[in-house]
Amino acid sequence: MSENSKLEPSNFIRNIINDDLKNNKNDGRVHTRFPPEPNGYLHIGHAKSICLNFGLAEDYEGGLCNLRFDDTNPEKEDVEYTDSIQADVKWLGFDWADRLFYASDYFEQLYEYAVILIKDSKAYVDDLSYDEMRALRGTLTEPGKPSPHRDRSVEENLDLFKRMRAGEFVPGERILRAKIDMASPNMNMRDPAIYRIRKVIHHKTGDEWCVYPMYDYTHCISDALEGITHSLCTLEFEDHRPLYDWFLEQLPVKCHPQQIEFARLNLNYTVTSKRKLNELVTEGLVLGWDDPRMPTIVGMRRRGYTPESIRDFCNRIGLTKTDTIIDVGVLENCVREDLDKRTRRVLAVLNPLKVVIENFPEGEVEYLDAPYHPNNPDMGQRSLPFSKEIYIEQDDFMEDPPKKFFRLGPGREVRLRYAYFITCNEIIKNDAGEVIELRCTYDPETKGGNAPDGRKVKGTIHWVSAEHALKTQVRLYDRLFNDPKPDSKKHEKDWKSFINPESISTCDSACLEPSLVDAKTEECFQFERTGYFNVDSKDNFNGKPIFNRTVTLRDSWAKQKNR
Ligand code: ATP
Ligand code: MG
Repeated sequence: MSENSKLEPSNFIRNIINDDLKNNKNDGRVHTRFPPEPNGYLHIGHAKSICLNFGLAEDYEGGLCNLRFDDTNPEKEDVEYTDSIQADVKWLGFDWADRLFYASDYFEQLYEYAVILIKDSKAYVDDLSYDEMRALRGTLTEPGKPSPHRDRSVEENLDLFKRMRAGEFVPGERILRAKIDMASPNMNMRDPAIYRIRKVIHHKTGDEWCVYPMYDYTHCISDALEGITHSLCTLEFEDHRPLYDWFLEQLPVKCHPQQIEFARLNLNYTVTSKRKLNELVTEGLVLGWDDPRMPTIVGMRRRGYTPESIRDFCNRIGLTKTDTIIDVGVLENCVREDLDKRTRRVLAVLNPLKVVIENFPEGEVEYLDAPYHPNNPDMGQRSLPFSKEIYIEQDDFMEDPPKKFFRLGPGREVRLRYAYFITCNEIIKNDAGEVIELRCTYDPETKGGNAPDGRKVKGTIHWVSAEHALKTQVRLYDRLFNDPKPDSKKHEKDWKSFINPESISTCDSACLEPSLVDAKTEECFQFERTGYFNVDSKDNFNGKPIFNRTVTLRDSWAKQKNR
């Protein structure tokens, strides 16, 4: 049972399943499958499908969910992808146990079924070229015309199909088609292809086959062979459902799964098409499938998104029958909410400005207790070293601040988080006129952040002791696209022109509190006042951990829109 199955909102698929269970359809079984094609890495859209399929199996007593690779397209497929897909599903927290399948496991069975179709005069070998076939296919308003080879004898078809398998023909020379209805208003029913010739090495079956079954034919039969009860897919397959049912009605399969369509997940500021994600990778527009800006599972993982936050998101957006675009801010909020609960708060200065505390004794270090979480004492605490030279954030100082700037300025006093009040007395500039150092004094009476005389300061800023700082690189990520609909039809040609040039920037002289030396790969933190960050799993900075910004503390994009 999933953690919140009892609270799970009902949806139209649950309603269908509940009715089926009431009627004891499928002997009361619920069996789903997640059927990725291993031609790329999984993305957030797939996460929705995974959560749906595996989630239903968890929620119903005795429910099962298979992981099945739809590997009928050997040119584009690779074990790199079958490996990554398994890792991603596991990381999301789901388990297929011993139910890992490959459509290619059924190649022999699929071939035999095709022979049955031929024997029943429900399939024929066609010699037309792809273009000739298309020309005869008709349009939405005009019926198609039969191929001159449509009425070949069963014997001739069996012979040709056998020779197709034996490798006697070149790709495109012959094709096996279902014999359904060239006048059907549904184009998918106008004698669709079942088998085509491909002389390529398959990542699982090697050179054993040179005829490969088409997706529509393979999918329904694979579902039936595995005893799937509810075959959930995205809306674009709605028009394929009659074909799904047709194949199963013609063949001696043991069960007939029900195909149910739901709306795919679309996110604004994001592309969720494997083809486009592939293009970003191969053209070097991102630094790989696991670039933290990618909406892939590996990208989100590297960025610091947790499986819990992604699952929460998939639950929250629910299921519909109509396509909508979800605000990516909803996903980012799920990440924030989850990280808020689980992360330790630490001090980290991304763009340092040196501050010398003139009245602090030279060479001395004071250790200040600081809890890791404001209201979760279980997270413990650490001692922060405080010394004569510290760093603060450049943004926390203004030479000529407006009234509402509650941070540091000439003559102003602020609180250093977990430490003391300091007052800025003097500014030191370089030849270019840039502020390079502040001279301040601290008030030793204000330890812990309060003045005994009751005097108040409005601002609290973070800091790090210069001598103790962990100096490393911090990478700031933002949305990969700066247009809300890079994935829309309108932008089919120019979608890559909307890549946000500010989607990555680095801070190479960040100064972090020393406790972060021990941060582990993928560990997440809240850098106080700045955002959530995790330790990069791939790169390091001269042997030191690199930190990725997972998400800012607040949604700065929503603010921009309202401005
Ligand atoms: P893409 O459009 O990114 O190439 P796909 O549908 O071709 O995706 P598959 O590997 O065939 O990718 O998808 C596996 C499963 O995930 C399918 O059942 C598919 O319907 C589902 N799926 C893919 N994209 C989405 C999405 N954006 N929202 C929900 N489900 C999706
Ligand atoms: Mg697909």
